[in-house]
Amino acid sequence: MLSDLARANDRDTSTQVAGLRTYFRSGSTAEISWRRRQLSQLRKMIADNEAHFLRALHDDLRKPHQEGYLTEISFLYSDINHSLKSLKKWLRPRKVQSPLLAQPARSYVQPEPLGVVLIIGAWNYPLQLLLSPLVAAIAAGNCAVVKPSELSPATSRLIAQLLPRYLDSDAFACIEGGVAETTALLEQRWDHIMYTGGSRVGKIIMAAAAKHLTPVTLELGGKSPCVVADDADLAVAARRIIWGKFTNAGQTCIAPDYVLCSRETANRLTPLLQRVLWEMFGEHPRESADYGRIINRQHTLRLSDYLGDGEVISGGEVDVDDCYMAPTLMRNVNLSAGVMQEEIFGPILPIIELDDFSNVETFINEREKPLALYIFTRDDALADRILSRCSSGNACVNDCMMFMLAQDLPFGGVGASGMGAYHGEHGFRTFSHYKAVMRRRNILDINIRYAPYSDRKMKFLRMLSK
Ligand code: NAD
Repeated sequence: MLSDLARANDRDTSTQVAGLRTYFRSGSTAEISWRRRQLSQLRKMIADNEAHFLRALHDDLRKPHQEGYLTEISFLYSDINHSLKSLKKWLRPRKVQSPLLAQPARSYVQPEPLGVVLIIGAWNYPLQLLLSPLVAAIAAGNCAVVKPSELSPATSRLIAQLLPRYLDSDAFACIEGGVAETTALLEQRWDHIMYTGGSRVGKIIMAAAAKHLTPVTLELGGKSPCVVADDADLAVAARRIIWGKFTNAGQTCIAPDYVLCSRETANRLTPLLQRVLWEMFGEHPRESADYGRIINRQHTLRLSDYLGDGEVISGGEVDVDDCYMAPTLMRNVNLSAGVMQEEIFGPILPIIELDDFSNVETFINEREKPLALYIFTRDDALADRILSRCSSGNACVNDCMMFMLAQDLPFGGVGASGMGAYHGEHGFRTFSHYKAVMRRRNILDINIRYAPYSDRKMKFLRMLSK
């Protein structure tokens, strides 16, 4: 039974969504000039408030400013700039051929906005993961409600305060809150839902969307393997793996979850990883301004449970009150324990040694399809072989996470790691419907499709279809 408060919340939410829908129907959001203005205003909102955003990210995750700038703010600038530059091209109708029977005619595919969309963000990149889908939704001409994660309250509050000051408030709303508020939002009918987060809630989102036949994009996670072949440049690999894993204290959906290599390579790679950790975060990472914190106590406790699942060879220190976990390397881990059964989503890097490296694809394919797959090797044929045999949302050879910076690459999962994609034109496509249009003229009305049918018409039809 819904409480009175929940019922009142539902009423407020539905009034708000109805308001956005009325505005959408006015046609204003379809204008290219309106879309451009909103995108420019969003960029201005970030530029005017950069310092506030960096502080909020620091408050939520102790995110170092430079890291926050690279992975959230500059990412959004390039996303917005790319959309502004490409919008005209994306909106252009694409001509296709018309069949002989329908001549004279003009056929084309025309993108159109979906309507009013819901964007639900996650806490680990609380700015980028909420606003980058919004960039795509605006570019495609939609109205939107954004729902930031309640686990990153400083960034959530700031977005909620600033958004109405910069964007057209007839078209956009930011609704803060947790499970109750999200549940109320999911009761509404949307034209698309984009959700970023874990798969447990992903299933709730999809079930709620199914009631209204609403399409969904689910940006989920999973265990992203990092294969290091014997011939890899281990010095470079060590730097790139440590960066990929320990940025944002490992709370990145595309962080390398574990390293997969031969025993011999593990023996050579381990001291290099340890050295890079020391170079990046010093003797006492806890005192480093460049190392973040876990989002909350509960996640810190969850992560500390993994430390018993193998041999800790670096790090392992935890301070639950400070939400601190040292950058940690593990070897000899139990493959059936939590650390290898669940997505780690924190600063622990297990190094898994394969007795026979040629089993690398089998190891990956026995598990859920990952969001990202990393392969360090100098051998292009080996990289091609692994890429062609192993399915993953995204992949990167000889680096971690850098594919995110290529605006023309789609970003999204496959199988358990998600469905649908965004970034650049792929985001525009996600929030658009591609309408098929045929425009005919009234002259020349070939009558072979009309009754009464006849042998002559049939003969002609056969001739046309060969
Ligand atoms: P989270 O706790 O922030 O939840 C995500 C959103 O779901 C939040 O807005 C939250 O309010 C909402 N939510 C939570 N419980 C709900 C419920 N019962 N009903 C309705 N809504 C609810 O995020 P999380 O799940 O802790 O995020 C971590 C996961 O997200 C990891 O698996 C990670 O890999 C994945 N992730 C994926 C991407 C990606 O782009 N693919 C990015 C970041 C995180």
